[in-house]
This record gives sequence, structure tokens and C-alpha cells, in this order.
Amino acid sequence: ADFEELGLHQDLLKGIYDMGFSKPSKIQERALPLLLSNPPTNMIGQSQSGTGKTAAFVLTMLQSSRFHFKQTSAPSRELARQIMSVVISMGKFTPVQTEYAIKDNLPRNATRVTAQIIVGTPGTMIDLIRRKVIDVSDVKVFVLDEADNMLDQDGLGDQTLRVKKCVSYNRQVQIILFSATFPDHVRSFASKFAPNANKIEL
Ligand code: AMP
Repeated sequence: ADFEELGLHQDLLKGIYDMGFSKPSKIQERALPLLLSNPPTNMIGQSQSGTGKTAAFVLTMLQSSRFHFKQTSAPSRELARQIMSVVISMGKFTPVQTEYAIKDNLPRNATRVTAQIIVGTPGTMIDLIRRKVIDVSDVKVFVLDEADNMLDQDGLGDQTLRVKKCVSYNRQVQIILFSATFPDHVRSFASKFAPNANKIEL
């Protein structure tokens, strides 16, 4: 398969090729047609780092971001930074506005963030929502990366559910969850977090 066959915007294809990717990786080949389908469907993906999963969900967010609000939650600041750098590189030729929300880059007096894509850790997301720095009433896609890692850390699972409740209050949001491993507690969390999801494994 080719990136051209996925119906991606021209400016996103430019970003992809600019990053030096010529063909979709295995996970991208399987996930992208489902993630980009209309109507959007939820996804639970099993995938290790190094498979190209970040690009799969970043492309999904960028594809329709011109008018919509997307949000990603990651278990650590370091991972949030890494995801944001992929968003910026892939979105280089798009007009999409991005923001990366972690504790140490958050201006104390921030009043409003108008970005269409926000990447951050759950605690910071909750803080930003509570202070009305970000408006999540129009979120279309909500991604949770490294769910197993997230659930290993005290309180982060609950915080993630709180963020999800805010973004999906009374409305349909496309939910995407990736995890490298699926022990029982991750599996049951995932099926509640992303109901009726397409499941893909590598
Ligand atoms: P990830 O699984 O998201 O941690 O990505 C692993 C690495 O694969 C990153 O360095 C990406 O830049 C790279 N990558 C992702 N998709 C592709 C692709 N389609 N072709 C070549 N490299 C890729």
C-alpha cells in the first residue's frame, strides 16, 4: 500500500515524504484505513515503540485538524515531548496549530490556548481544563499512548478517565488507545476507555 491511497491531504503527504517515509509501516498500513474511515471508529492497538504507531495517530489527528480540536494524553513529559515533535514535523506544511502542554512549559498566567492539537500528561490536561485555558468542547479525537505505562503509575489511569469524561461529555469522540502490552487490567481498562473499538495487533 501507499500513503497516496489513504486519502490524506496533499500537505500531509508532503510532511510524510519530507520526514523520509516512503511507505506505510505495517501498523500504519493496518491502522490508517480504519482510523481515517468515515464515520471515525475507535481503536485499540497493540504495538511496541519503533513500529510507527506515533505517526499513525498523529496523521489521524492532523488529517482533519484544520477545523477541529484534537487531544493526546501521554504518561510522561518525555513521551509528550516526543509526540509533539512528530506532530510538528508531520504538520510542517499544514496550517494546523499545535500546543504542547506539560507542567514546565505552562505559563502560570496562561489564559487561553487556541491550538487544534494538544499533547500533554493527564495531570496538566486536567489543570488546563479546570482553569479554562483549553476549551475541550469540540474535541474530535482523543488518543492515549502507552496505556500500560500509564496504568503502572499511581493515579494516572483515573486522571486519564477524568480527561476523557471532559472531552467526551455528551458527544461522540474518536478514541484511540495504544499499548505495548495487554495484561488483564490494561485489557479491561481499554475496553471501557474505547468501547466498540477496532482491535489491531502486530
Ligand atoms: P514509533 O513506533 O512511533 O516510536 O516510531 C518509530 C520510528 O519509525 C520513528 O523514528 C519514526 O520516525 C519511524 N517511522 C514511522 N513511520 C515510518 C515509515 N512509514 N517509514 C519509515 N520510518 C517510519
